[in-house]
Amino acid sequence: MNSINSTRLTESLDALGRIGTYQDETTGLTGVRRLAFTEDDGLGRRHVVDEMKRAGLDVTIDRIGNVFGRRKGRDDGAKPVMAGSHIDSVATAGRFDGCLGVLGALEVVKTLNDTNTHTRRPLIVAFFSEEEGARFGTDMLGSAVAVGRIPLEQAYALTDRDGKSVRAELEHIGFLGTANERLTPPHAYVECHIEQGPMLRAANVDLGVVTGVQAICWHELTVVGRSAHAGTTPMNLRADPGVAVSRIQLALRELVRSGRFGDSLRATMGVTQFHPGLVNVVPNRVVATVDLRHPDDTVLQRAEAELAALYASIAAEEKVALTHKRTARTPNVAFASKVQELVARFATARGLSHQRIVSGAGHDCQEVAKVCPAGMIFVPGEYDGISHNPREFSTPKQCADGVNVLLDVLTSLAEEEGP
Ligand SMILES: [Zn+2]
Repeated sequence: MNSINSTRLTESLDALGRIGTYQDETTGLTGVRRLAFTEDDGLGRRHVVDEMKRAGLDVTIDRIGNVFGRRKGRDDGAKPVMAGSHIDSVATAGRFDGCLGVLGALEVVKTLNDTNTHTRRPLIVAFFSEEEGARFGTDMLGSAVAVGRIPLEQAYALTDRDGKSVRAELEHIGFLGTANERLTPPHAYVECHIEQGPMLRAANVDLGVVTGVQAICWHELTVVGRSAHAGTTPMNLRADPGVAVSRIQLALRELVRSGRFGDSLRATMGVTQFHPGLVNVVPNRVVATVDLRHPDDTVLQRAEAELAALYASIAAEEKVALTHKRTARTPNVAFASKVQELVARFATARGLSHQRIVSGAGHDCQEVAKVCPAGMIFVPGEYDGISHNPREFSTPKQCADGVNVLLDVLTSLAEEEGP
């Protein structure tokens, strides 16, 4: 059984992790900050492109800046097998999110080179643009454009906080490519990624076989009451939108705890903005957000309908006016059972324990899954799987386990018959 070079993989993660670093003020730790299409993202991209070329890959860049490194197949006209992820990051990132999937796929190629192995199908190592959405506000931007969910011109026109556009910034860092942004569907796509959560580590399991990505919806609530003096207005004469929003937040937790939606419903109120936001004034307006997630779209819809009724009844009781709009909605994505079976089978063959897991976060794989059989391998993380944080850490063994299974799955898929 072929295995990857774990030391080389670790060194490769470290090398990319030294590009675009920042000093975390609270912890003093060194983290990664490679926001999409910044100078640092450009440096990271050029580093990985150089690595791809050094591994003998033929590199192309498409019009949304997605990068593809292609390794010839024995039957070079057959549809390629693709693996990858992203190398852009949030502002307070670690070294593993996305990078493991890209550098892991590259390590697979290096291993095949070392052993002089030539797969039937070509292999492509890919990294997609602005997966995090941390700069231009739309996550999975590059992969969404690649599969046609977001039109190229619409993506180009997105701007960051300073009004700089995707197109101008891509051009600025030299990654406005010329290849058609619409991805020719590969034979299959596999992404190895850190879990970014606590479950695998807590279960002491080596790998996660990802069954899909859960459904997500976001609401923005605007609750309007009546401003009043905090000292002179009796409590029973108030219309306080702050109280209404606080009650909704507690009701969200009760909704989850009721168990009526199984044990996988997650509800979060991440934003509450009180206006005018003064210590001695009853607010007249509060803006709040709700993030609701569940692995099953129909269950999420039921929960969402119940939420709407809940908003209305609490608003009526608190004598405030509440409007809500849905600001995001993505259905759950089920990954190909074939890829799940291969991940599980090869993990078992390597003596690695594994369990099925639903991804709580979004990934490029859910976009690519629209055009070909696709799946993911999750690697556990230390410190409760903390991510988007400089403490983000998966051990060299955890990373190597994931990438060894990636090697097995990719080489198996790349030998499959057919066009
Ligand atoms: Zn990621």
